[in-house]
Order: sequence, then C-alpha cells, then structure tokens
Amino acid sequence: MAEKKKNSAGKMVRQVVFWGIILLIVGGVFSVLKPEAPLEKMAVSEVVSKANNGEIKQIEITENNLKVTLKDEEKPSFQSVKENGSIYEQGLKTDAPVEVSVSEESGFGAILGDVLIMGLPTLALIIFFIFMMKSAGNANNSAMNFGKAKARIYGPDKKKITFDEVAGNESAKQDLWEVVDFLKAPAKYEKLGAKIPRGVLLEGAPGTGKTLMARAVAGEAEVPFFSISGSEFVEMFAGVGASRVRDLFAKAKKNAPAIIFIDEVDAVAKKRSQRGGGAHDENEQTLNQILVEMDGFENETGVIVMAATNRRDMLDPALLRPGRFDRHIQVTLPERRERLDILKVHFKNKPVDASVDLDKMAAKTAGSSGADLANIANESAIIAARLGHEKIGNQDVVEAFEKVAIGPERKSKVMNEKERESTAYHEAGHAIVGHVLPNSDPVHKITIIPRGRTGGVTWFLPPEDRNYTSIHEFKDILARGMAGRSAEKLVYGEGGITTGAGSDLKHATELARDMIMEQGMGENLQNQVFPNSDDDGFWAGASKPYSEKTAEEIDKEVAKLLKDATKRADEILAANREDLEKLKDALIEKETLDENDVAEVLKTAKLPEVAKQKA
Ligand code: ADP
Ligand code: ZN
Repeated sequence: MAEKKKNSAGKMVRQVVFWGIILLIVGGVFSVLKPEAPLEKMAVSEVVSKANNGEIKQIEITENNLKVTLKDEEKPSFQSVKENGSIYEQGLKTDAPVEVSVSEESGFGAILGDVLIMGLPTLALIIFFIFMMKSAGNANNSAMNFGKAKARIYGPDKKKITFDEVAGNESAKQDLWEVVDFLKAPAKYEKLGAKIPRGVLLEGAPGTGKTLMARAVAGEAEVPFFSISGSEFVEMFAGVGASRVRDLFAKAKKNAPAIIFIDEVDAVAKKRSQRGGGAHDENEQTLNQILVEMDGFENETGVIVMAATNRRDMLDPALLRPGRFDRHIQVTLPERRERLDILKVHFKNKPVDASVDLDKMAAKTAGSSGADLANIANESAIIAARLGHEKIGNQDVVEAFEKVAIGPERKSKVMNEKERESTAYHEAGHAIVGHVLPNSDPVHKITIIPRGRTGGVTWFLPPEDRNYTSIHEFKDILARGMAGRSAEKLVYGEGGITTGAGSDLKHATELARDMIMEQGMGENLQNQVFPNSDDDGFWAGASKPYSEKTAEEIDKEVAKLLKDATKRADEILAANREDLEKLKDALIEKETLDENDVAEVLKTAKLPEVAKQKA
C-alpha cells in the first residue's frame, strides 16, 4: 500500500512511541505470567507416548510450540518444538487422558514473552514493531506474519492469467465470466436486487484447470487472488486452521474486491460420516470457521470464495447450502477438440516444425487432463533440447506423450536373454488377444524396453473418445489383461509363470470387482450395487450394507469373471500358437513395434469360436 510509505516522519515517531509504551506494559504482564526457570526440552514422540500413558496433564499448543504440564504439576515444565503434522498424526490417541489446549492466537504472545524474558533491549523491540507496522496492511509481505494464513497471493500486478490461457470448458468459462462481472461492476447487480454469489464450487478431476480458472477470474477482474489448500490445514495443530481461515478472510476483505481460492476443500470439509482419526476436531473447527466467515459476509464485501474439489458428493452438505457454495461449476476432462485447443495454448510460444501434428496428438490422448497435455508440451521441449534439435519435431512430441503416459524408457535396466524372451511372449500374448477380440481397442504399440515401472508394455488406444463401456468390452479387456500370464503358461508350463503379471492381475481383479459391485454386471447379482467402501456415504458409517452371504456371492462372481477371462485368453493363444512365436521373434529383434507392424505380423490371427461372447 503506497499510502503507508508516505507517512510523515512526525506521525511515525508518534506511533513508535505509542507502540513502545504498549510493548513495555505487555512485556511486564508477560514476565509476571512466565515461569522463572526455562523449560526443559522433550521430543514430540516422547510427549505423545507419555500423554497416551496418562503421564501428562496438559499440552498447550501455540503455533510451533508445545508446552507440557506433567500429571502432578501446576505449571508446564517441558516444551517441544513443532514437527510436521499435528500431534494426533504423530500418534496421540484421541481418547488419551490429556487436556490439549490450543492458543488460537498465533503464538505471538508466547514469542513476545520469550523475547522479553531473554532480556532483549526494549529498543530492539521497538525496531521490531516498526517492522511489524510496516508489514501490517501489506498483505504481500510475509515477514512477521506469525500464524497468519500462508495464502499465496497473486495480486493484480503479478503475472496475470486471463481466460485466453484456459482452453476448452466453454460452459464453465461462461459461468465464470459472470463472476468476473460481479467483481467488476457489483452495482449493476445490486441495483436490480440481485444477490451476488459468495461461494463458487469448481468440481472436476485433478489437473482439469480448476486453479487456472480461478486465477483467470481474478486476472480478468483485476483483483487480488488469495489461495490456500485444504491439505495445508490438515497439517496444522488443532485450532490453527481456524485462525488461518479467519486471517485469510480478513486479509481478503481488506483487499476487496478479491478472490479467495480454497483448493482441495474436501480435505477439511468431508461429510461427518467420512471423517475419522485424530484430524477430526481440527477439520471440524476449520470447516466451521469457513462457514462462519461466509455467513458473516455482508453483501457488499466484494469477496468471492472459490473452492475446488474432485468429489462434491464427499462434501459436508452444510458447505453447499444457499449463501455458501451455492454455485456449482463442473470442470470436465477435455474432449478431442478441447484437447487440441489446450495443446495449442501450450505449444503457442514454443518453436515447432511442420511435422508436428497436434490434431493427431489430440486424438490419441483421450482421458488426459489439461495438466497432462501441458506436461506433454513441456516434455516435448525438454526432449527436443536434449537431442539438440532447433525446433520441436513430431517425434519429440510422440516421445513426450509416451513418457507422460507410461513413464520414461529405462534402457539402462538390464534384462537377461531369458527375461527378454519371457517378456516378449508375455507382451505378445496381450497383443494377440487384444487384436482378435472385437471389443478391445486396437494395439497402438508394444515394447519390451522397460518403461516406468513395467518390464514391457502393450498399449491399446481407443480410436475415439467414449463415455460408456459395455459388459462385452469389459470382458474383452479382462481377457487381454490375463493374456500375458496365459502366454507364459502356454510356453513354459505352469511352473514357468513369473511375477511379470502381478500388476495385470491387480488391474483385472479391480476391474472385475468394480463390474460386480459398482456396475451391477454379475450373473446372479444383477442390477444392484454394493459399494466397496463408504466413500459415497452409502454405508452411513455403519458396517457394510449387505449380508455375509452376499459378500460371499460377490467373491464368487468376481472369481468367475477372472476365471472365464483366463480361459478365453488360453483358448485364443492356443489357437494362434504360431503367431505368438512370430510376434515374440519380431519383438526380440526390434524391441518396439507400432500398430502397423503388429497388424502385419498378425494378419492371419483368428478368434476361435469358443472364445466368442454370446450376444
Ligand atoms: P486443477 O486445479 O484442476 O487440479 P490446475 O489448474 O492446477 O488443475 O492445472 C494444472 C495446469 O494444467 C495448469 O497450470 C495449465 O498449465 C494446465 N491446464 C489445465 N487445464 C487447462 C486448460 N483448460 N487450458 C490450458 N491449460 C490447462
Ligand atoms: Zn502384462
């Protein structure tokens, strides 16, 4: 704030004297309250175990300081310094016989007290306070902000994000333009009696651009942006979260019009039935404080709170009531056209040569988020630079895509001949079964070069975006997933199967369980769902809402799906034994095959009658 710096010298001196006197008085009070002897140190782990054992009467928490009063004593005699996470996270039982008190104030008093006890000259304190005064009101200055919200602030003068940088998601952007307009010309709405929204909830998968859009709202409206993440609150001691919220709102109001952005709001605002463990009370207090602040808004405060979550159904309904986060905006994964637009945004300022085909890349990246696409663009540039290219070429982009999707190649990881061979059979098995099954996506690429955490990869890509998956598709996916191990078994016998199929089996089992429990796709258990966990509140905090008998039936259905899938994979590979050899040989020779190579090798592969699905 420019005005503060223009304080006349006289006014400044008056303030210094004034604060100096107040300080002396406060200091006096603190020295009376302070225990004479300095406190002994105790490790937090020891505090926790002693408290669990009932040896501690009270723990007083200020922001980064714990004071410990033992069972038979009146005053604290030990202290510890905060480590990461709350004491509950460090093992303190919620029912431990100890009184935990939290000083809502930032611990400033305690620090001040310490300073005084140490006998620092008053002069130092006065200088210290001048510093404080200067930084008060200047929200960007974090110096001396004890216990203040560590909100990141992107004021209007920081790098401004506009809606030009947000591609796709037209309907979300349209809704948000309205918010921009509220911030810029509130009078227009008030004149007509319209209530200005207080809370806007952005819901969507990670990386879909929720933060980006919130920043763009601030950028377009040219207002400061205060952001904090729900997961940061969780790390704090009880009570501190609430005081941070209070502070964040105070700061935003002072700088109004402004945007407050709470990322991962579900971390503090889960439904009551979903909360558990020691973080309980802290989250409750933090959530309550958010509600109190939002309810306390007067219409003209000009502060709009935006929050992001990927699970709206997990949020405490109190948060979604009218007057709170009552505007909901869906942010979706981009469709093909939108992916192209996002890629264009991120390649805009990068030198690319004529070979780069972003449209094809957009087609290949179904299911990718905006963040994934931004990542591909960045990786392309890194790869091109590493290879010494003048411009980014298509091959760099393709490689970046593969790196982002399945992890980098690990050419350095040595595989012996035997492992190379069994990997080649394994991947060829996936590829053949996927290739001949009518409801599987086509093979995009196979490699026996280790990538990411896998030994080899067979990669299937959908030719187009799709929103639904049929039971036939699921069953074909299960069969091709089992086919890696099937191939090993066919070639080496039961005794030769390896750990190479571990993650295939895990995915297949998860998928089968999902089909039975979430999609009602069982044979006996049809058209009914049996949620696996209480994620959506289905269990209402009780035990599972179905009988043991049903649980057994679920297990049976899952086992049957997997058994059938294995059988189909076995049958298909037995019927294409020669092609399995051919594809294995091609892999050992070339290591990586693309869709055309695979189609060439497998041009006579067939689907045996027994492995067909009934209509
Ligand atoms: P979220 O908050 O939904 O998890 P972010 O806003 O943090 O996602 O997105 C991360 C990054 O991904 C952004 O900084 C941006 O580079 C890129 N990104 C995501 N969505 C888009 C989009 N629609 N247009 C352009 N870039 C995007
Ligand atoms: Zn596999």
